[in-house]
Amino acid sequence: MVRTRFAPSPTGYMHLGNLRSALYTFLYARHNGGKFILRIEDTDQARYVEGATDVIYRTLRDIGMNWDEGPDVGGDYGPYIQSARKDMYLPYAEQLVREGKAYYCFCTKEELDARREAATARGETFKYDKHCLNMPKEEVERRIAAGEPYVIRQNVPESGEASFDDVIYGHIAVDCAELDDMILIKADGMPTYNFANVIDDHTMGITHVMRGNEYLASTPKYNLLYEAFGWEKPTYIHMTPIMRDAQHKLSKRDGDAYYEDFLAKGYLKEAIVNYVALLGWNPGDEREFFTMDELIEAFSVEGMSKSPAIFDVNKLTWMNAEYIRRLTPEEFTAHALPYYEQAGVAGMDHAVLARILQPRTEVFTQIPEMVDFLAQLDADYSVELFTNKKSKTNPEVAKAVLELVIPALSALPEWTEEAVHTLLLGMAAEQGMKNGTLLWPVRIAMAGKQVTPGGAIEIAVLLGREETLRRLAFGLAKLG
Ligand code: GLU
Repeated sequence: MVRTRFAPSPTGYMHLGNLRSALYTFLYARHNGGKFILRIEDTDQARYVEGATDVIYRTLRDIGMNWDEGPDVGGDYGPYIQSARKDMYLPYAEQLVREGKAYYCFCTKEELDARREAATARGETFKYDKHCLNMPKEEVERRIAAGEPYVIRQNVPESGEASFDDVIYGHIAVDCAELDDMILIKADGMPTYNFANVIDDHTMGITHVMRGNEYLASTPKYNLLYEAFGWEKPTYIHMTPIMRDAQHKLSKRDGDAYYEDFLAKGYLKEAIVNYVALLGWNPGDEREFFTMDELIEAFSVEGMSKSPAIFDVNKLTWMNAEYIRRLTPEEFTAHALPYYEQAGVAGMDHAVLARILQPRTEVFTQIPEMVDFLAQLDADYSVELFTNKKSKTNPEVAKAVLELVIPALSALPEWTEEAVHTLLLGMAAEQGMKNGTLLWPVRIAMAGKQVTPGGAIEIAVLLGREETLRRLAFGLAKLG
């Protein structure tokens, strides 16, 4: 039975890299009929950010990545928050001490600093020197009984190799001589992050560890622990990084790398997930659009990339525009409504707004700028806007058109799209004018700008009779 876990440290918002780790971990479990486990790694209380666990729960749920076991849903391997497991770790460290694979260390910070400085002065990099390894048992016991602070360190072999085989990166090996005797239990009795991570993966029965490649260098050390305990190692699948460009990782400091920021910028969650899924994985064919169910069906480790992925916001935006176009008009309106409100057009005909905006919207935040003219005419527009060669109009023609159209529109019995359409096009035919010659001046007078979503008739319907006539009269006055 495949058991994967997403093990975030609650240190802030959900970065796209974290989101991808969660997604691949989830997809792998689901594709293989396994279990997806959520574990909160909060041993490092100094980095803990209030509310960060809620962001994790909310994001995963929002996207539809439901976990089978986790802090709130429980499970047979709980608790699923490290701080609630804090008493579980010490006995494991003590077991290693009894077996000579770990030892108590009483070196103080001052002593360590002095030795580190001396090493640096000699041009060496400091590595813990196993100073306390061979302390007689009686002395250890005496010092513990006397209340001296201590840590427990792993006794890393002095020679040989620590290695593992990663599914993506292949064989990774380091010389044990380069490894520090890492601290397993800190002076406050709490486990270090690295120790807790290993104990948890083992005791939770995790079969596949999928995570970012920043853990690649620590994994040989983790494996030494598995060996020390004689435990079966999980399969390791480290993901290649997501890059901002060829040289730089997409960092948490790039303010725009957070999932919730993209939502706030008017991206659809389905588009974000689809795009993130393709950052480091491909289905092996030309498909680009995937629902979550399709991702579950298609996902495989073989499709995971061995080289870094470059985050391309233009590609995401293109994909988002595609997702927006596939919405029903009602769904479009539901997403667009907050932006209509912001722009002051929420009271206008939603069907017409959707019709003119949906094909042009790449991200929802573009909407206020596209519709601002509906809420408020820029009275300072230039009469030169009435000039258009193709439509054969200029300020003079425009004046004649507006003089003709205003009384006809005021007399229209009902203000529907159909009625306005029939009237205006009928008038153009009657006058022997191109439709554009009549519609251009009407649209300019209503909009005060040349580029608008929607044409004269749609804009007239959105504005309503009173506002349309007010703007046409204003345009006529402007034309002198
Ligand atoms: N807690 C780690 C993080 O948030 C993940 C470690 C792991 O997956 O093993 O980066």
